[in-house]
Amino acid sequence: MSEPTCPEHPETALAPKKKGWHCAACDDVVLTYDEHPQGGVRPEAPAVEASEADAAWLASLPTLLALPLEEGLHEPSPQVALWALCDAVECALKVLVMAGVGEHLAASGRLPDKLHAELRDRVRKLEEMALQMGEIGA
Ligand SMILES: [Zn+2]
Repeated sequence: MSEPTCPEHPETALAPKKKGWHCAACDDVVLTYDEHPQGGVRPEAPAVEASEADAAWLASLPTLLALPLEEGLHEPSPQVALWALCDAVECALKVLVMAGVGEHLAASGRLPDKLHAELRDRVRKLEEMALQMGEIGA
């Protein structure tokens, strides 16, 4: 199966994005992967029903983790499920860093000097990257 074109703009090839096929002219997703499977392969895995144990486990997690995990565990499209699970891992890392920083602050009121310096340097690098990306319009 070939790459699909936009129903409104037949000359426009669509690009695969997280939620489906994106038309640059419409600036929107115009076909889902159910309507036109990516690579000619329709995802065969049906949506997984959440068991009561899954639901209880997800409900016990911070919302920040529960939402992407719930989406990843119950998403029938493998591409979208992988995206959501990667989001969940990224969120888990953020939660762990916040918890670690919180523990240090609760115990001593301040971060160890070496950790404080390392985090400060990383935040500055991220700020510089964000500024540069803004300048080039990325
Ligand atoms: Zn279009």
